[in-house]
Amino acid sequence: MRKVNEIIIHCTATRADWWESKSSQAKVNEVRRWHKDKTWSDIGYHYLIDRDGTVVDGRPVERTGAHVNGHNTGTIGVSLFGGLGSNENDKFSDHYTPEQGTALRDLLNTLKRRYPSITKVSGHNEYAAKACPGFNVREWLFDKKPRSIMKSTTLQATVGTAVAGATGAGTAIASLDDTAQLIVIAAACVAGLMLLYIARERIRKWAKGER
Ligand SMILES: [Zn+2]
Repeated sequence: MRKVNEIIIHCTATRADWWESKSSQAKVNEVRRWHKDKTWSDIGYHYLIDRDGTVVDGRPVERTGAHVNGHNTGTIGVSLFGGLGSNENDKFSDHYTPEQGTALRDLLNTLKRRYPSITKVSGHNEYAAKACPGFNVREWLFDKKPRSIMKSTTLQATVGTAVAGATGAGTAIASLDDTAQLIVIAAACVAGLMLLYIARERIRKWAKGER
């Protein structure tokens, strides 16, 4: 097995609607033609991700690719269709579809399982004065999809409402979404348990005659 320690992300620098009526494989074949025209042996990337999230194999992953000058040994090149006119610090969603985002995360996970020696995922723009792939890979990587529950502004507002208005609590709870309702109910349970605990302490003291 080839020794791989890094995945480098690229884009094809094509328009969002480029060849949109053609198949993903046809698009990959076209990119392969561009690369072969440069007298390369094959397409430079190992995987390409189409606008609808379809992942197509490029150069066999066991062969060294041709995607970053001086960093082809030990790396896997993954390219996203699109990205024309992007800048290196744009947001992923400025140029790519949610389907591409999901497919890219899934592909990264699959490759990390297959090659446990992979310790790094980077963007072409970290190695060259280029926009490619047109977003900050590091920031995107750590932008975890399910947002932390307490960061949710709806929830913060919700909790505020519930705490502030004991009288309007019933109506407030009814108007919340499911998650928020559960949270409010959980909070109420915790409060109830605390009251029970306090009551228990009182009963103990009472039993000991410390009234
Ligand atoms: Zn690139």
